Amino acid sequence: MLRLLILGGTTEAMALARALEGDRRFAPTYSVAGRTGTPRLPGVPCRSGGFGGIDGLVEWLQRHACQVVVDATHPFAAQISAHAAAAAERSGARLLVLRRPAWNAGPHDCWYRVADMAAAAAALGEAPQRVLLTIGRLELSAFCSAPQHHYIARLIELPEQRPPRCDLLQQRGPFRLEDELALFDTQRIDLLVTKNAGGTASQPKLEAARRRRVPVIMVERPPVAAVAEQVNTVEEALCWLGEPLPPSLRSPLVGSG
Ligand code: NAP
Repeated sequence: MLRLLILGGTTEAMALARALEGDRRFAPTYSVAGRTGTPRLPGVPCRSGGFGGIDGLVEWLQRHACQVVVDATHPFAAQISAHAAAAAERSGARLLVLRRPAWNAGPHDCWYRVADMAAAAAALGEAPQRVLLTIGRLELSAFCSAPQHHYIARLIELPEQRPPRCDLLQQRGPFRLEDELALFDTQRIDLLVTKNAGGTASQPKLEAARRRRVPVIMVERPPVAAVAEQVNTVEEALCWLGEPLPPSLRSPLVGSG
């Protein structure tokens, strides 16, 4: 039985864990950061909350004799990905990164690519605009530096801080194109700010922006270190997991603590 830790919080991580439910060849643990009050969880053993840095993650992997770490976290969750790479190496577990490809602009798109949220706020310009923000709740405060705009922020949980003129839409994807078009029309959206998350669940907003000729300020992914084993889809991850284990992993690691 292969003991694996799935670092989750994404649609792909959830789908992978669900695909392993009831498969006696695997003993997965699904891990979330514990930021959302009502996380979606699969029917495999789950844990919630940080590990306490790289040392804590190494300790967890050793204590659970974990042979494989699947980093299926969000492309913007750079810290846990760096920790996973370091802890896997130190504990002797194999690391697989499951990361959906980034979105790319098509010929009819008008995208301005920026490196972070502060640059996105600066890119909005001086003239007041109606701006749709689909960036989550944690970085909304970056737009306090551009209070002349009217923001419509779509998020799952309420933020602690937000710019002065900011309406909240508490919604969780996936989103349909017709609903996105209606949102752009009823809210008279001039600009969209989003993160280059990739995937299909929230892609219709990009199609809506294209059709309504709304420019997109695209916050690009944070840089992450290259890893030896990376796949883009759940199917590829399942194939990888189905590969025969190298001899070094056939007997479990026995850890301390
Ligand atoms: P982050 O900055 O990379 O991680 C910060 C810390 O949170 C980590 O050092 C770790 O704490 C803990 N952590 C993160 N993911 C964890 C997991 N799956 N299981 C256990 N601990 C975890 O992460 P973030 O950007 O705040 O994202 C947090 C979680 O939300 C991620 O799991 C990610 O998949 C999900 N998510 C993020 C975004 C986004 O835009 N960033 C969007 C959708 C979903 P310790 O150092 O104490 O171990």
